[in-house]
Amino acid sequence: MAVSKTVGPNETADVVIIGAGVIGLTIARALAQRGVRELMLIERGRPGAEASWAAGGILAPQVEVDHQDDFFQLACASRDLYPEFAEQLKEETGVDVELDTTGTLSLGFTSKDEAELRRRYEWQQGEGLEIEWLNGDEARQLEPCVSTEVRCALRFPRDFQVENRRLISALVRTNEELGNQLVNGSSVQALRIRHGRVCGVETSSGFVDVSVVVVAAGAWTSLIESPDARLPAITIEPVRGQMLCFHARPQIARHVIYSSRGYLVPRRDGRLLAGSTAEHVGFERSVTDEGVDAIKSMALEIAPGIADLPMIDSWAGFRPRAPDGLPVIGTCEGIEGLFYATGHYRNGILLAPITGKVIADAIVDGVMRAGLNAFSPERFRE
Ligand SMILES: Cc1cc2nc3c(=O)[nH]c(=O)nc-3n(C[C@H](O)[C@H](O)[C@H](O)COP(=O)(O)OP(=O)(O)OC[C@H]3O[C@@H](n4cnc5c(N)ncnc54)[C@H](O)[C@@H]3O)c2cc1C
Repeated sequence: MAVSKTVGPNETADVVIIGAGVIGLTIARALAQRGVRELMLIERGRPGAEASWAAGGILAPQVEVDHQDDFFQLACASRDLYPEFAEQLKEETGVDVELDTTGTLSLGFTSKDEAELRRRYEWQQGEGLEIEWLNGDEARQLEPCVSTEVRCALRFPRDFQVENRRLISALVRTNEELGNQLVNGSSVQALRIRHGRVCGVETSSGFVDVSVVVVAAGAWTSLIESPDARLPAITIEPVRGQMLCFHARPQIARHVIYSSRGYLVPRRDGRLLAGSTAEHVGFERSVTDEGVDAIKSMALEIAPGIADLPMIDSWAGFRPRAPDGLPVIGTCEGIEGLFYATGHYRNGILLAPITGKVIADAIVDGVMRAGLNAFSPERFRE
C-alpha cells in the first residue's frame, strides 16, 4: 500500500473507503482481489488502532445464542470463512494471525446459570450445532484453572479466537502488496452527493473526486456530514469496553472461557486478556478503577489462580453500536455509489470476512446479496 500523509490537490479514485479498521481493511483487500484499482483508504489516525486493536478477537457466534435469526446466520457464515481467511493471509504476507480453534467454554456457577446453559444446550443440539455439556469436574479436567465453584459448562468446539492485532498487521501488509493507497492522518468530513450519485468526499486535507464510497468509520460514523442529501439517520454510538491483560507463563488456559459476567482469552505468547465493560460514556477513553475492579472480580471468579498473576496492561476501546445493536451493511435507496459497513458493535472481528465479501461483491457485481435486509441502512430512514 502506498502510504501518504495527506490528500493531494485534484485527487481522484475509483473507490474511497472511510476508516482503516478491520472492516475497512478487509473490504479494501476483497475489492483489490476482485480487480478494483485506484482504491483509497482514508484513515483519521493509524490503521487498526481503534476498536480493532482493543478487541479480544473472540469468534464465537454460538456462545450466547438461543434462537436462529439473520444475525446468527451471518455470524456463523463469517466464522466459517476464518480458517481460509487466516490461511490466505499467511500466504499473502507471512503473518500468522494465530487463529486458535481449541474452542470456547461457557461456565455455570449457580442454578440459574445451569438452567440457562441447559436451555442453550437443548436448543443448539436440536438445531444440529456442535455443542458439548460438561459437569464441573469435566470442565476442570479440561481447564484445571477453572474454579471449584463451577457446577457445569458448555463447550463450543467451533467458536474460535484470533490474535486481532496480528490480523491488523496482516491486513495492512496485504493491502500494501495489492497496491491500495492508504492516506493516514486525514479525516473525511463530508460526503458529496449530486443528482442522487456520490461525487466525492471532503477531507481535512482536500477533496477527492470519487463515485463509490464505503463508510467503514466505526464509532465515528455519525460525525461524517452529508449536506447534499437526505440519508437514513444512522446513529452509531461508541460503547466503551475496558480490557485487562495478565502475564501467565506457562499459560493457564487453552480455551476462551466465558462466565455470565465476562471472559478470559489466553494468547499463545502468555498474555491472558480479561474483559470487558459496556459503558455509554461517549468518546471518554479512560480505564477506570471501577472497570478494573469489575473485570478483576469476574476473572478471579472464573480462575482464582489469576490472583497470583501480574497485571501487565489495560486499555479501552469504542465498540460501534447502532440503536438496534445490529451491523449496518448495505446501500442507501436513491443514492448511487454509497455503501455502509459499520455498527459491528461486539462482533466486528468476527464479521470482517463476510462484510468484506458482501461489500466487494455488491460494488463489483452491482447487486447486494440476498438475506441482508435486517442490516440495511434503510431501516433507519425517517
Ligand atoms: C474491549 C473490546 C473488546 C472487543 N472484543 C471483540 C471480540 O472479542 N470479537 C469481535 O468480533 N469483536 C470484538 N470487539 C468489537 C470489534 O472490535 C469492533 O466491532 C470492530 O473492531 C469494528 O471494526 P471497525 O473497522 O468498524 O472499527 P474501528 O476499528 O474502530 O475502525 C474504524 C476506523 O475508522 C477511522 N475513522 C473514523 N472516522 C473517520 C473519518 N471521518 N475519516 C477517516 N477515518 C475515520 C477510525 O480512526 C478507525 O481507525 C471488541 C471491541 C472492544 C472495544
